Amino acid sequence: MSQTAEKILDHTLLFGEPEYKEMFARKAPGEGMPPKERVQQVDDWTRTWEYRERNFAREALTVNPAKACQPLGAVFAAAGFERTLSFVHGSQGCVAYYRSHLSRHFKEPCSAVSSSMTEDAAVFGGLNNMVDGLGNAHRLYAPKMIAVSTTCMAEVIGDDLQSFIQTAKSKGTIPNDLDVPFAHTPAFVGSHVVGYDNMMKGILSHLWTDKQRVEDDRLNIIPGFDGFAVANNRELQRMMDLMGVSCTIVSDVADQFDTPANGEYQMYSGGTTLDAAKAALNAKATLSMQEYCTTKTLEYAASLGHAVGSSHYPMGVGATDDLLMKVSELTGKAIPSKLEVERGRLVDAMADSQGWLHGKTYGIFGDPDFVFGMARFILETGGEPRHCLSTNANKGWEEKMGALFASSPFGNKCKAWAGKDLWHMRSLLATEPVDLIVGSSYGKYLERDLNVPLVRLAFPIFDRHHHHRFPTWGYQGGLRVLVAILDKILEKLDSDALSDRGGGRSYDLTR
Ligand code: SF4
Repeated sequence: MSQTAEKILDHTLLFGEPEYKEMFARKAPGEGMPPKERVQQVDDWTRTWEYRERNFAREALTVNPAKACQPLGAVFAAAGFERTLSFVHGSQGCVAYYRSHLSRHFKEPCSAVSSSMTEDAAVFGGLNNMVDGLGNAHRLYAPKMIAVSTTCMAEVIGDDLQSFIQTAKSKGTIPNDLDVPFAHTPAFVGSHVVGYDNMMKGILSHLWTDKQRVEDDRLNIIPGFDGFAVANNRELQRMMDLMGVSCTIVSDVADQFDTPANGEYQMYSGGTTLDAAKAALNAKATLSMQEYCTTKTLEYAASLGHAVGSSHYPMGVGATDDLLMKVSELTGKAIPSKLEVERGRLVDAMADSQGWLHGKTYGIFGDPDFVFGMARFILETGGEPRHCLSTNANKGWEEKMGALFASSPFGNKCKAWAGKDLWHMRSLLATEPVDLIVGSSYGKYLERDLNVPLVRLAFPIFDRHHHHRFPTWGYQGGLRVLVAILDKILEKLDSDALSDRGGGRSYDLTR
């Protein structure tokens, strides 16, 4: 055997050992695969314009959507509040999926509990599961707040969260004064972005309803669902501190998904304190870093008298400029010279590498705000974001993207695709190839299939570690994004130089 106690092989190498190769060869006839030539013929056809048209005419099937379901966003939003436990009313497997998705990305434990509904609850309703579950969760995990959301199952049978929570309180399984905000998060509509919005509004309306608002000069900043939140929230706070702006990051997951290894497991860490979240009602303004993550929340804040504003993922020069100028306009604080210097350094770096960046073409996929922000930055570098795809975007987003393309001399061959999936993206990349793909780890199969390098800059990133510890927002974040893109461009250049086509003559030391 290749595998012994002295020589443990990861399966990546293990399955290449002779006995495994021989086993796979023996199994192959039983798998009923058509001949290799036929597979190749079909594969070639799926890369044609004819197939692309059929693929885009597809209506009843989604293949590899670049989105997750609503409760994932709700769990993420709740994780950003002090000692807050997510309680997802529905099936246990769904909640295991949210926890594992977040843990695999952040490489940190993620806590969330489930009411573990099974067949009987699906028929008779989940009231008992909720009443007992809330009591158990409160006794075992001592949260300060329990944020309740729902899976498909609870929504299909129409369980009424408000009355169930009230019943739990009146039966005494949880204290009457425990904060238990809730959000209905039907997973069969919308996406994690909508779930984030629903839970954010649910938590804020729970904390703010019937309270007297006395306006102060603070600013609320809502980051939105962001795989880089650990570093981006800290970067936001740093920029606000430099400006002397008093702000509350509403739902700050930075510490929750970045606990130190000091010998003690921290189930809860950091987050927006409940006192700060309550006081956020009095802020003069609420700014969202991702408009599509916070549509209802911003409407709600505006209805209470907040000035509101939003960004579409503040990455790159123009988006950071807009953010800082908006903050300056709302607070009357000047943008300090330190931030101006950082801006200059980012512009300098972009200019230094212009020869390699100019004219590069990209396929981008991810959440609507991310794709907008990424495309905007790429246009600033002289690149062309040819295929911009967001499964969880709407037609309004497509129009906004169209206006963005029209605002740049590099945008005229670019197109945005709302509601499409990664199998559509494959057709786009096969028929109109680009230099780079930008998206999540799920893009690695496109990378392999189409031989186009992938830059991992969107949630989830499962197959690389710790990227989220470095910001992508602001001028400093822009530098990190720029380096990630340039590294891929230059690595591809080196490998092209060594290929048969390149002949090995231009494998240069200096680029
Ligand atoms: S889509 Fe529905 S069933 Fe699937 S994980 Fe989400 S809530 Fe659960």
